[in-house]
Amino acid sequence: MLGAMQDWTMRITHVIDHAAREAGDREIVSRWADGSETRTNWSAVRTDALKMAQALQALGLQKGDKVASMAMNHSRHLVSWYGVAGMGGVLHTVNPRLFDDQLEYIVNHAEDKVLIYDAAFQPIVDRMKDRWTTVEHYICFDSGEHAPAFEDWIAEQDGDFQWVMGDERDPCMICYTSGTTGNPKGVQYEHRSTTLHALAGLQPSTFNFSASSVMLPVVPMFHAASWGLPYAGAMAGIKFVFSAVNDPAVLHELMEREGVTDSAGVPTVWLAHFQYCDAQGIDLPKLKAATIGGSACPRFMIERLMKNGTRVQHAWGMTETSPIGTVGGPTHDWDQLTFDEKVDKTAMQGRPIFGVELRTVDLDDTTTELPRDGKTSGALQIRGPWVVKRYYKAEEDAASPEGWFDTGDVGIIHPDGTLQLTDRTKDVIKSGGEWISSVELENAAVGHPDVAEAACIGMPHPKWDERPVLFVVRNSGSDVSADDILGHLEGQIAKWWMPDAIEFVDDIPHTATGKISKKDLRDRFSDYKLA
Ligand code: ADP
Repeated sequence: MLGAMQDWTMRITHVIDHAAREAGDREIVSRWADGSETRTNWSAVRTDALKMAQALQALGLQKGDKVASMAMNHSRHLVSWYGVAGMGGVLHTVNPRLFDDQLEYIVNHAEDKVLIYDAAFQPIVDRMKDRWTTVEHYICFDSGEHAPAFEDWIAEQDGDFQWVMGDERDPCMICYTSGTTGNPKGVQYEHRSTTLHALAGLQPSTFNFSASSVMLPVVPMFHAASWGLPYAGAMAGIKFVFSAVNDPAVLHELMEREGVTDSAGVPTVWLAHFQYCDAQGIDLPKLKAATIGGSACPRFMIERLMKNGTRVQHAWGMTETSPIGTVGGPTHDWDQLTFDEKVDKTAMQGRPIFGVELRTVDLDDTTTELPRDGKTSGALQIRGPWVVKRYYKAEEDAASPEGWFDTGDVGIIHPDGTLQLTDRTKDVIKSGGEWISSVELENAAVGHPDVAEAACIGMPHPKWDERPVLFVVRNSGSDVSADDILGHLEGQIAKWWMPDAIEFVDDIPHTATGKISKKDLRDRFSDYKLA
């Protein structure tokens, strides 16, 4: 026999209803690409989402239909997250930095019917329109020049609308992986998985929000659901400050003026911010917390932010995990740790939040679980209610029958549960039968003040199978030598990990999500021979 509590279908509409009811006048500020600013609040976001849901129905859309957004962070994009889910649709957040072939593939594969975009991406729309065969309507978020303007389009509705309800396992969003190998793959987030993930985002060990939090998310809404912030932030009723441009001067000014307490972004965002503050001779903003993830956060970055009084929440996750898997924050023994020990701990990827389980398995036999001893590294697997089971339209599950999903990452789990990522399965360097972590080498290298960026790949070697070669972009004006960098690495990494060569390059290739693309780097240096 069941218990006797109420049914309460976990639908995303509850999230926006709650925000409007309990924090209706909490502000949402948007700084637009043309420099203008608008202010709205949770109550108005809900009203606009209701109108948008009506407007979508007026276009003939039905439950389960897909609506694409190709937009930066701003309040109208936020409205569309709730408006699409509220009419029972599925929002497909398209990353405008993808290549044309990928853009063609994902929009057609998702069968998007409507595409809503920022005017800044008009050239993409003009270029792709003929190739996007399923899109019937285009709407523009911030201009009425080439398509109906979003505000005018929803203004035709009165907002007298009942959210479309349904099963909590219905999809509400689809995100595609950036597809570094093969075509991008679609991950369908559900109303339920999204609600649970957002609730987990409220754990003090995750985003640590309070009602007074003011969050400026730099992580784009088109990348891995902006780490779930637009949902968790609504649940907590926080103030949001959005910027449609990522220029550090703009972000800095907004952070100072709007009293921003929290921010979230990939490490390169912070690097640009450091450089901006140094060039201007000004202090970093006094944030309470910075969530950093998407790629490994280098030690020097953690150190500088912590010295500035900012709590660093180093997080790991992926599109397939909604995306949060682990987050770093103060552990039970935090007060007993020295500053350096705190930095060391924060440089690791944190601990699993409630809801997901992690394990490492043998790289060659992925069913043998490895000890959580802080030493043994293996292939990282994850399972939980916001982890992918099967990619969109795939014929087979992506996870094992027990739910384990292979992340493609390699890591060590420490006895206290802390995850330490050491590499991607495809990027570890195998030298003389032993593994070398390219990530650790890179992290040590970027700690050198003259190094702007570094990437390490394994190059074929007749005796050792592979040996590490480090590609380095110098800071402008620097003439740092290979010997200087090797000297800097000494003592930080095992002697036999020392790169066989250091090559200075003008740039390192990146993926559409701003991460170093080792695949492209390998292609670029496919004829490389170790001396
Ligand atoms: P993509 O579309 O490139 O897969 P994701 O954001 O889903 O974009 O990328 C997930 C991957 O990013 C992870 O599997 C991991 O390799 C890397 N990653 C994410 N967070 C971290 C982190 N904190 N440290 C190191 N690597 C990370």
